[in-house]
Amino acid sequence: MRMDPVRALASIREELDRRGHNRVRIVVVTKTHGPELIETLLKAGHREFGENRFTEARAKFALVHAQAIQPIYHHLGPLQSGFARNLPGLFHVVHGVSSASALESLLKAARRHFEATGEGMQYLMQLNLTAESSKLGGMSEEQFLQCRESLPSEEALTWRGFMTMGPTDQDAKRTSEVFRRLRQIRDEHLPDGELSMGMSGDWQLAVEEGATIVRIGTAITGTRAGGPWMPESG
Ligand SMILES: *Cc1c(COP(=O)(O)O)cnc(C)c1O
Repeated sequence: MRMDPVRALASIREELDRRGHNRVRIVVVTKTHGPELIETLLKAGHREFGENRFTEARAKFALVHAQAIQPIYHHLGPLQSGFARNLPGLFHVVHGVSSASALESLLKAARRHFEATGEGMQYLMQLNLTAESSKLGGMSEEQFLQCRESLPSEEALTWRGFMTMGPTDQDAKRTSEVFRRLRQIRDEHLPDGELSMGMSGDWQLAVEEGATIVRIGTAITGTRAGGPWMPESG
């Protein structure tokens, strides 16, 4: 399906405003699409973009020509220890932290990056509250409670909130319950923290439950290609 991403984004923005959620941030998920999509949206005044593969993002961001607006890049999807050290300098916000060892690697790299550049990063803890075992990542509430006291938060790497994904079957009632539970956890543990929840199929439910960041791909970009974007294919 061909879409005009600038118009699709504008109509989601309008719907958010109409529903009284004008402060909700939209991260446009550009995975599998080329650098020109990011450029087009930057030119239209949009700043925040999400990607889930490090190698794809590194090649792509290098080809995005500088615009008047500086992008903010969000890393989505499970953070793996092996890749965590590569993220500083490329990404500004990391949404998928659900392992202590990956967080440890990210912290070391973020400190080095901060010493060299003065630029800090932010991260969100990813919880899986669906009772599904999932390759999409996320720790259980119990696991979160166990590591909660030792979560780092400093200038180089600030803990800024929580992220979750709804149930895969997208059942509306259960999806809302999952989002509501994440909000309760946020209220208890980091009251002014961000809530990254809601994608193309469930962002309306997420904002009703208090999402502060929605991550929207296909509803803005149209269907995704089968695999990652590569420079030679772009
Ligand atoms: C791909 C992806 C999205 C966007 O999904 P859509 O259904 O295309 O909106 C959001 N969050 C994460 C973690 C993703 O991997």
